[in-house]
Amino acid sequence: MREPVIATIGLGANLGDARQAVHGAVVAIAALDGCQLLATSPLYRSAPIDSSGPDYFNAVLQISTRLTAPDLLACLHRIERGAGRERPYRNAPRTLDLDLLLYGQARLDSPTLTVPHPRMLLRAFVLRPLADIAPALVSAQALAAVANQVIAKD
Ligand code: ADP
Ligand code: MG
Repeated sequence: MREPVIATIGLGANLGDARQAVHGAVVAIAALDGCQLLATSPLYRSAPIDSSGPDYFNAVLQISTRLTAPDLLACLHRIERGAGRERPYRNAPRTLDLDLLLYGQARLDSPTLTVPHPRMLLRAFVLRPLADIAPALVSAQALAAVANQVIAKD
């Protein structure tokens, strides 16, 4: 059997009952086969970046998982679809967005999956909640670089 890996997942939503969508996704991820929830950040609210519509609700969680990274991403997409996610255009407002931020120490670059997530260092809504649950993964410099972005704990 595969050794478990610690995976870090970013959650975001800004359409419909977005707070509930993030909570529901935490529950759904925790219930995935071969996955165990290790830590969930507080919920944050952030202004849309490169996107539009209402404020986002964001959180970050860590799981221990025996799924491969592509299998885990497929599960995350299934949970997104279950929450009514549609992709009418790039960066459209969304009922639920689940991004695989980190998969252990892995560096992956396929057409459908890049890990570490290529934009995670640009986003306060990733770095602030990640620093809450895994401070060793977020440098003070990284936080300072996104300090101008509007975000607060819910
Ligand atoms: P975004 O989250 O960047 O706003 P989407 O959620 O629509 O956009 O994802 C677009 C595509 O990004 C997905 O089809 C997925 O295959 C790909 N992708 C590549 N790397 C990752 C990753 N680390 N986490 C999530 N999706 C990823
Ligand atoms: Mg996404």
